[in-house]
Amino acid sequence: MTEPESFRLELHLDDEAATLALGQRLARAVAEIGVGINILLNGDLGAGKTTLVRGLAAALPGGADARVSSPSFNIMNLYPTTPEAAHFDLYRLEYQEPDESLLEFLQDDDTLVIVEWVQYLDKSFWPDDFLLLEWRPATAGRTIELTATGKNAIKTLRAAF
Ligand code: ADP
Ligand code: MG
Repeated sequence: MTEPESFRLELHLDDEAATLALGQRLARAVAEIGVGINILLNGDLGAGKTTLVRGLAAALPGGADARVSSPSFNIMNLYPTTPEAAHFDLYRLEYQEPDESLLEFLQDDDTLVIVEWVQYLDKSFWPDDFLLLEWRPATAGRTIELTATGKNAIKTLRAAF
């Protein structure tokens, strides 16, 4: 039997608590699968991207001390979780060349890489294996589409749901 190449699901998040809970759910799966996971977030200002990262980082082993903030004014935030998490925000990149450190972390299987505003990253820089979260228009709360591409991302999404 051949493995599917991607796995997709859509969720409605009624409120901030639901966004945090999705982050926690993904954290449990990341802790279980462990390596080579890249989470790419595509949503506008105020979508809830940083909120999701807060829920995720806090629920990882060691995450109680992670101080999650939007890394728009520095290149990235590193959280002392297991796995270690590197949190990027490309809002100010606006299609310019990404920082070398992002490309290095995307190659590094030991680090969980989380990228806000991934729509500003040229597709040629995207990894082969990633979980993409896309915010869709919603009249209340948030609608989010999750697509897993590649072996680790598919395993992670299956473990979470
Ligand atoms: P972003 O990082 O995408 O700019 P933030 O995480 O800073 O967005 O969140 C922006 C606002 O959206 C916050 O006030 C947060 O509480 C709110 N929010 C997060 N998730 C939801 C949701 N599912 N429904 C309604 N509001 C939400
Ligand atoms: Mg943000």
